[in-house]
Amino acid sequence: MNFLNKLNEKEKRIIDIVLNSNNEFKNKIYLVGGVVRDLLMGKKIKDIDFLIEGSAIDFAKNSNLKIKSIHEPFNTVKVEILGEEIDIASTRIETYDYMGSLPNVIETGVKIEDDLKRRDFTINSIGYNLHSNKIIDPYFGQEDIKKGVLKILHEKSFLDDPTRILRGLDFKYRFNFEFDENTTSLIKNCLKTFNNEHLSIDRIYLTLNKIFSYSYSNKILADILNYEIYKIWQNKTDLKTSDIVELDQAKEIFNVFEQNKLYILALESIFYIKAPFKNDFEIYEFFKNFNNVQLALYYFKTKDESALKYLKIKNIKPEINGHDLKKLGFSQGRFIGIILKDILKEKILNPNAFISKQDEIDFVLKNYSPD
Ligand code: ATP
Repeated sequence: MNFLNKLNEKEKRIIDIVLNSNNEFKNKIYLVGGVVRDLLMGKKIKDIDFLIEGSAIDFAKNSNLKIKSIHEPFNTVKVEILGEEIDIASTRIETYDYMGSLPNVIETGVKIEDDLKRRDFTINSIGYNLHSNKIIDPYFGQEDIKKGVLKILHEKSFLDDPTRILRGLDFKYRFNFEFDENTTSLIKNCLKTFNNEHLSIDRIYLTLNKIFSYSYSNKILADILNYEIYKIWQNKTDLKTSDIVELDQAKEIFNVFEQNKLYILALESIFYIKAPFKNDFEIYEFFKNFNNVQLALYYFKTKDESALKYLKIKNIKPEINGHDLKKLGFSQGRFIGIILKDILKEKILNPNAFISKQDEIDFVLKNYSPD
């Protein structure tokens, strides 16, 4: 079987270039992780992760590849091929000092089988040797792909790195897979016994930002709430599963593109109060510096219709501008700013105040004297 046939022409060329860039390493170059999984599933791949059974830095330095950056501690390099940034990693062994802490890399250049041990699910722990076309699958990930099962590699895996639970939820809904029985009970055990004293919170947020940006992310959010998975990184949340429909409605109303940011903020227990607005101009002034995520969140939390009102008035603008006012004899920038704001206020408070630009000019001449 040569599953590389499923790659597009550019991806095939990139692989060819890496494979022929350093003869000494020819039999040491692997694809690993998502790319192998997605190819086995017949899906389009996201990015190509290369793994060198040896030192990726030595490999790249003694090749004709254009090196963009080197990360010594992990022995990884970024190279540029056909205009694309490509990551090349070294096989490595990692250990964790504390639950949820960042891993220590204790050795690089190890055998591929030892590298595969540090990975999360069996479906992501498959290597593919680009020279021999051999699949390295010590955890039977191919079988689990066929069965649609998410299986963790070892008993301590979630305690070492609980972001794997979040990653698992992503794969569950992305592929319509299920956690196997043992993995489910290890998740439950992790939720019961996890101590977050040394948790890398950055890693949690990096993962949340990723898994909350898909069309199916509301299902992931529901699981995080139903199974109280958020307790890994925060004590409580006032968000409820039954709120998700309204949260998504607010997302649509306010045209939020950054769904991930909205979901993360909604999960955090931020107390919102309904602002007491006396009129529409106060509404405008209050919301004018809000972005769409903040607007949606305010509306979701307070149900204050002022936020909807803001959508109706936010594009109101004076017809005249600073140049027009200068032509009328006003020269001070600050004064021009005040006049434009007054006109905006009139327009917002009384939509029929001005019909034409001339009406605005008449208003200015009646109420202000040029300096
Ligand atoms: P995606 O399609 O979302 O990119 P992916 O599995 O390729 O999926 P990456 O975050 O790019 O996701 O990770 C690449 C590989 O690195 C994974 O397939 C897995 O083998 C390994 N990996 C990533 N994150 C972890 C983790 N937290 N713990 C263990 N292994 C991980």
